[in-house]
Amino acid sequence: MRILIVEDEQKIAQFTSNILKEMAYATDIAPTGNEARDLFELIEYDLVILDLMLPDINGISLCKTFKEMRPNRPVLMLTTLSEIHDKVRGLDSGADDYMTKPFHTEEFTARVRALLRRNQDSTLTLECADLQLDLVKRQAFRNNETIKLTTKEYALLEYLMRNQGRPLSRVQISQHVWDLHFDPESNIVDAYIKQLRKKIDHNSPKKLIKTIIGHGYTINEE
Ligand code: CA
Repeated sequence: MRILIVEDEQKIAQFTSNILKEMAYATDIAPTGNEARDLFELIEYDLVILDLMLPDINGISLCKTFKEMRPNRPVLMLTTLSEIHDKVRGLDSGADDYMTKPFHTEEFTARVRALLRRNQDSTLTLECADLQLDLVKRQAFRNNETIKLTTKEYALLEYLMRNQGRPLSRVQISQHVWDLHFDPESNIVDAYIKQLRKKIDHNSPKKLIKTIIGHGYTINEE
């Protein structure tokens, strides 16, 4: 999962980004509306966190632009203004949810999870054969044994499992699991797949992570 944070106040942007990274999401920060629009065009984000007051473009009109480009992409609007008419304007512009700053971390993470689920499906556990992924506790189990994963390994496995059976290219994987600092020339995806295989498939006769030669990877039962 990759999330775009549109926020001109650097401290808040970094704070928000840190919370999301702890939740195993990749994040990019855009300090202006124009930069946000460019990134949004380029990358298929799973969610946008949008500040209402930006130096160049008004958050409301930016939200409308996002929704015109990709209607199903969820937008969570953040603002320091708590007046009711701003809330209404925000929701009218197509924002899926709205929070006022400063926010409580727990409420924020709950809303992010809810918005991401809305875009996918409402399931809280993903399964592939005897491999289970608990999306709330962010834990993996194989044959009922807990598998300890790092944050990035978890993010990679979640992305594979949400797209079960679908061939995913290295670029697609890196776009959803890593951020803009990712070097496309690096073999980081392969390295992480190798790690994941050790943890997921090594002790099981049934190998779930498959290589698609010349393309990338997939996870499936067959
Ligand atoms: Ca602002």
